[in-house]
Order: sequence, then C-alpha cells, then structure tokens
Amino acid sequence: MIIKTLATGSTGNCYLIEDGETRLLIELGITFKRIQQDLNYETSKISGCLISHSHQDHCKGVQGALNASMDVYMSKATTDEIGIEHNRIRLYENKKQFRVGTFNILPFDIKHDVENHGFLIQSDNGSKLLFATDTFYVRYKFSGITHLMIEANYSEAILNENIERGMIHPVLARRIKASHFSLENVLEFLKANDLSKIQEIHLLHLSNSNSDEEVFKKSVQAATGKLVFIP
Ligand SMILES: [Zn+2]
Ligand SMILES: [Zn+2]
Repeated sequence: MIIKTLATGSTGNCYLIEDGETRLLIELGITFKRIQQDLNYETSKISGCLISHSHQDHCKGVQGALNASMDVYMSKATTDEIGIEHNRIRLYENKKQFRVGTFNILPFDIKHDVENHGFLIQSDNGSKLLFATDTFYVRYKFSGITHLMIEANYSEAILNENIERGMIHPVLARRIKASHFSLENVLEFLKANDLSKIQEIHLLHLSNSNSDEEVFKKSVQAATGKLVFIP
C-alpha cells in the first residue's frame, strides 16, 4: 500500500492511497484545482473519494470532484450538512462494507462534534489500512492492520501549557479536547490494539500550536517500534 499526503491539518486534508491496482483519495479538503495539480491532472485514474465528515478542511474540493465526474463516497448526514446533491455522490452507511476496485471499505462511527466515520480499508493484496481523524475517541479494536493513518492533533501537556500562558482560550481548549485526538489518547489506542502486522504509522492533522512533530514521532516510535511518518 502506498500512502501519499497531499495536505493534512486544519487548513485542509487530502490523502492518496493505492495498492498497485486501485487509487483512492481520502478527504477532499483542499481546492479541487490543487488536487488536480498535485495529481498531474490524472484524476481519471482515481476510482473514488472517501469523505469522513462535513467540515471544510475535509470537503472543500467535493463540488469540484463531483463536477469532474468522480465518485465521492459520504454519509447521508454529511450530504445534508454540506447541503449538496449530485448523481456522483455514493452514500455509505455505518458498518456496511462496500467495494471500490480492489478495496473493501468498512466505515465505522467515531466521536467528533458532527457525524464522523473512520475507514477500515482492505486490499485484495492483503494489506489492511485503518484511517481515523477528527475524533477524541475510537471505541472499536482492530487486528491485523498493516497501515495506520491516525490523527494526533495535540498533546495534553502542550495544550495545558498554552492555556496557562494565555495563548489558548479555555473554551477553545475544551472544544479541542471534545473533538480531536491527543497524542496521549493515540498512545492508549495503540496499546489497546494488535500492532503485530503494522508496517507504517502515519500521524495526521497535527495542530500548529499544540503539537510538536519531533516529540510526537519519537513517542509513537518508542511505544511501538514501528516506522512513523508525519507528513
Ligand atoms: Zn479536520
Ligand atoms: Zn472536523
């Protein structure tokens, strides 16, 4: 499985995954023009786009992709929240597996401030990718994952320090804690899951002010002994 990050973080998210046969985009949170440029205008080689939830940093390019006749998969709640209708929208349902090319995709509910889904994506070639972002909690456990893409938005320690220094308003801090994944929670999640087959861990959606790339990478590497990437 090849994972390429076109954009990550609160200004926009877009990821390309491919297994040698099928190419998928996860999230369309940057302008469609930029996506086209990053893909060398080869969007016709993309078999589908998965959208987790309705926030702009995950949806900005949806209309452009639909207009370019790409299949965009999202939940009914997400279409309602964006206020979008199009014959290229493919609705998925929680915990109902669907297939795109050589991928079997299982959406599962995760906790955010709007309806949100993570994806378990299994390729016919045997690789198994877990994707989850914009959540403060994942209640499911997974086994046999080979590739993990998971949000590590902030660290409790840095966020609390920023509150004390008056850099972050306590109300905003509370909102972040109730909607995003902390490094500490990621480490707990990793401890609770079977990592024996993991080849790569990608940490996503790091906050500009409440995270530290070096520390995050080292902590997850130390806790798992796996290859950790921060795009
Ligand atoms: Zn986001
Ligand atoms: Zn969000």
